[in-house]
Amino acid sequence: MSDPWPEMLLTPVADPAWRLSETGYDPLRESSRESRFAISNGFLGVRGERAVTRGWRWTAPARTYVAGLFDRSGEAGGVPVLLPAADWLRVHLYVDGEPLIEEPADAPSHRVDLDMRRGLLLSEFHATSGVLRLRVKTLRLVSLCDRGLGVQVIRIEVLEGRARFGLEASLEGIDRGLIPQTAEPSLMTWRTRTSGIGLAIAARARLATDAVEAQATRLGPLRWTWTWATRPGQVTVFERIVSIARADEVGAAAATARLGLERAAERGGPRLIAEHEAAWSERWAAGGVEVDGDPAAQLALRFAVYHLTSAANPGDERVSIGARALTGGDYGGHVFWETEMFLLPFYCHAWPEAARALLMYRFHSLPAARAKAAALGWTGALYAWEAAGDGEEATPPYVVAPDRRVLGILTGVREQHVSADVAYGVWRYWRATGDDAFLREAGAEILFETARFWAGRAVLEPDGRRHIRGVIGPDEYHEAIDDNAFTNVLGRWNIERALETADLLRRRWPDRWAELSGRLRLDQTELRRWRGAVETITTGFDPATGLYEQFAGYFGLEPVDLSAYAGRSVPMDVVLGRERTRRSQVLKQADVVALLALLPEAFPDDSGKRNFLYYEPRCGHGSSLSAGLHGLAAARLGETDKALDFFHRTAAIDLSDKTAAIAGGVHIGALGGLWMTAIFGFAGVSFNEAGIVLAPALPIPWTRLAFAVQWRGRRVRCEIRRPARRVTLVLEAGAAMNARVGTADLALTPDAPVEASF
Ligand code: BGC
Ligand code: BGC
Repeated sequence: MSDPWPEMLLTPVADPAWRLSETGYDPLRESSRESRFAISNGFLGVRGERAVTRGWRWTAPARTYVAGLFDRSGEAGGVPVLLPAADWLRVHLYVDGEPLIEEPADAPSHRVDLDMRRGLLLSEFHATSGVLRLRVKTLRLVSLCDRGLGVQVIRIEVLEGRARFGLEASLEGIDRGLIPQTAEPSLMTWRTRTSGIGLAIAARARLATDAVEAQATRLGPLRWTWTWATRPGQVTVFERIVSIARADEVGAAAATARLGLERAAERGGPRLIAEHEAAWSERWAAGGVEVDGDPAAQLALRFAVYHLTSAANPGDERVSIGARALTGGDYGGHVFWETEMFLLPFYCHAWPEAARALLMYRFHSLPAARAKAAALGWTGALYAWEAAGDGEEATPPYVVAPDRRVLGILTGVREQHVSADVAYGVWRYWRATGDDAFLREAGAEILFETARFWAGRAVLEPDGRRHIRGVIGPDEYHEAIDDNAFTNVLGRWNIERALETADLLRRRWPDRWAELSGRLRLDQTELRRWRGAVETITTGFDPATGLYEQFAGYFGLEPVDLSAYAGRSVPMDVVLGRERTRRSQVLKQADVVALLALLPEAFPDDSGKRNFLYYEPRCGHGSSLSAGLHGLAAARLGETDKALDFFHRTAAIDLSDKTAAIAGGVHIGALGGLWMTAIFGFAGVSFNEAGIVLAPALPIPWTRLAFAVQWRGRRVRCEIRRPARRVTLVLEAGAAMNARVGTADLALTPDAPVEASF
């Protein structure tokens, strides 16, 4: 009988630029590795815990996260957090009744590979027990084409020795806030305690020795055991397929999981893997970025695109992407401004269907955003600073500090720029894709309701200007400030885009305009008020110096020379203390520089450079998001060396163990920032009405940068070569369009490569 699991399937890709690999066991680095090596498909996320272990005493249990499985926690003000689901990968191995791996350190040869090309987590180790010597290889995946499915394979090869061998497979950790509902031999269901969401897991497990299937003893629901006698040369393969479903009702979740498992079992493990790999190669063709000349940058971009691809689910408009995606528990799975400002650019140009689903999540959250604005006494829609579930505000109202002091958290009420960020995402998506149906049916309403919020929030004062007082900008070191440039400029921009959209709807889709404006009670008087607001909102821009003042009074704060603290290992607010930080010009992260990176048109003449030069030395980079936007801004300003330095600093956050531990998950926003720096920064990609514009400025070690971008139904492959200073463009899909490289205007027609110099 032929082996359905040829060893090759469990062997990682040879090219080191396509994989992350680690050998051995280091208890201090284990949980960071679990985040970094996580596999995910936007519905399920599984941390990279070891395949075979009794290590619950030594390492945190493997965590499977299910997107949208939120419930109120008993801590931190009782806000909803993402619950881990039962661990479907548990396996224990026994030799003559004794555990084979007593503790992880027993397997020093243990090697783990994240095969990013195929979206697989693979491992290999040798194990010895008495006379028995084994070689074990494992594989796990969560399917990218059928998102409820997970597959686990363990291949055990006996190198030497005879013994009584046992394998027990089970489901563990089922009491974490989930109330068990039903249990059948192959299906279990749960319900979250207060939110009442249903979860179901169905599974099938098989074991074959030398391709002959063995009978399992069932120990209980989703729990099996096999025992057999080993002999040298023998190969045993364990295979488990799970189907996981979330639904508003337990019964619906059970039905979906059951059907999913039936269909998957018909197809069988090897075919599920092949389908999954095909889905990944499609995603790599659309979103992959290649760099020659800088292997660390190549790996960083692979890693970024791997996790960005893993994080999204175009099929679920009810969820968005948390600050750590589905790779860890930090921030309770909450969705921040990262989604629209740091992630959406990638999705818009590499995976528009995913971008649309993320924005539809915000559309479905409009009721929650309206309610939040109303509760605070404002009109329109104020999105949650930290969103969970249907968009409800999930920012914890306080934290208990290490010294037991209770510290209030103001972001949930005051960090309001998120509403303009969502509007920015809507506009960016529509401009990038030309998806008019989305703008008509969903985007316009978001733009109107957020504009309405800003027009009411910016209050006309006796000086004849509108002011937005008492906010927090992206730099969270300064709380309750007035006229934050980032907030005000984006808020004003938000109103301008809403006015433009109103005009567009009225002209092109008058029926829709009549319906929507009627339902929202949006009349000419209000639109006039919006126009007035655009003209009078204070921005803090001084034409004489070309500088934006980050917020009213910022220039008068204490300047601190950050270079004097270059060797510090903690953030600047810890070095200086909260109070002094608040009275100083030290910034947590890009704020005016964020505005420059995201809305360059708000910086006339050479004011972009002036602001960058002023604010960059004042920034302490206390957020993982900071270096990425500095990198993008620097690259656009032609400060290529500096930009590359910021790029590598960003990459190090998740890839180097020298920086902070990342036990709580990968920093998905920072990873989005890497993609933005490469594509919008070094390749200088932007778009105009006719097509794509490239203004490349590759950093010195990069000799080649290649990627594809989608724009309004087309896909253009771009290759930039330095030092030749040549660009090759190929229109791979969609109708003819234009391209501008340097000063040359080029016509792109399907499949005809075009070359230009820059
Ligand atoms: C940053 C925010 C970010 C949040 C979640 C905070 O530390 O200041 O900008 O949205 O982390 O990543
Ligand atoms: C972040 C805020 C967040 C708060 C509570 C802080 O570390 O900077 O953006 O709202 O934690 O989660």
